[in-house]
Amino acid sequence: MFDYLIIGSGFAGSVIAERIANKLNKKILIIEKRNHIGGNCYDFKDESGIIVHKYGPHLFHTDYKDVWDYLSNFTEWEIYHHKVLAFIDGKKVPIPFNFNTLHKIFPSELAKRLENKLLENYQYNSKVPILELKKSSDKDLKFLADYIYEKIFANYTAKQWGMKPEEIDSEVTARVPVFIGKDDRYFNDKYQGVPKYGYTKLFEKMLNNKNIKIMLNTDFREVIKVDLDSKKIYFFNQEFKGKLIFTGMIDEFFDYKFGRLPYRSLDLQFNVIEKEYFQEAAVVNYPNNYDFTRITEFKHIHLTNTEKTIILKEYPKAYNPETDIPYYPIFTKENQESYSKYKDLANNFGNVIFLGRLAEYRYYDMDDVVKKALEVFEEKVR
Ligand code: UDP
Repeated sequence: MFDYLIIGSGFAGSVIAERIANKLNKKILIIEKRNHIGGNCYDFKDESGIIVHKYGPHLFHTDYKDVWDYLSNFTEWEIYHHKVLAFIDGKKVPIPFNFNTLHKIFPSELAKRLENKLLENYQYNSKVPILELKKSSDKDLKFLADYIYEKIFANYTAKQWGMKPEEIDSEVTARVPVFIGKDDRYFNDKYQGVPKYGYTKLFEKMLNNKNIKIMLNTDFREVIKVDLDSKKIYFFNQEFKGKLIFTGMIDEFFDYKFGRLPYRSLDLQFNVIEKEYFQEAAVVNYPNNYDFTRITEFKHIHLTNTEKTIILKEYPKAYNPETDIPYYPIFTKENQESYSKYKDLANNFGNVIFLGRLAEYRYYDMDDVVKKALEVFEEKVR
């Protein structure tokens, strides 16, 4: 009855479902554990009209024109360039750390000297990861690197990952580099915005196709059995001969055969505040104070004319499989080695495709997932 089974309806599952349905005209069943589509991108309008991201802030940004054009088939965009402030020594300053931050924190003479030093050593408008800057032998740059490391990265990373910045893959802290210039934006990508009517509407449009059926509230293990020896897939106890696309946790798919892969989770605490605005920007990070890492105020993302506002505090924590959502794979060498055992196993399952943040155990951004799903469709499905 179905040609394809897809587990999960986040970007990975939904993009590939849409491609198969529209380009190949084949029948697809999406099996989704939650009571809604969209994965962690899911958003909803609260009664006052504010669009809330249920699983934390999702700001779309990409340099891939093909990804932007593809998604534009399903949504109009609200142009939005994300800005983040960090609360450092009693002041809210822009991050990524840039020349504006420098001048907000240090006395003007010192700031000017540091700015000149940065310009002597790095290209204007380039990005320097903090762990790179820390290697500098110049006395002034070393001072600056230590300052940024201590005030912005060390404690935030301890809260977020339970680790020091050097203990996690350098790609993680490189996501928020020191910026050699005056651009205050969190991302410099060519295309930035949020879906005008929210992500959920985008997903609804993507999946609105007679070839796509969606089964919500269903853990895939209720309907699918994987025989690890024969490598056969059973769907409602019948052998399934089509292709399975799996976007959940790869360790779960293989019944934790090599043990559990570590993930990091979050407690999300939403508050309604009876005033027009709570803070100056969509996101304020608190590297050194409190147990939460950041506060998001959704009204800044989709401008909304309301008397009240909604904020979200994120409290990072260890992942408890019984109760928590696995928001982040933990990017360390050791964990990559554990993952590679699962990947080897996955390579022997010719009729299963593993796709997305959890199935590939990668710290993908939304645009990376869309890009990958489009590529996988062309290379492995078509
Ligand atoms: N980071 C930090 N201080 C900050 C912002 C980021 O130390 O103020 C580090 C931290 O390790 C974090 C990583 O940079 O996990 C990536 O940050 P990003 O904002 O990209 O995280 P996400 O939005 O994916 O949670």
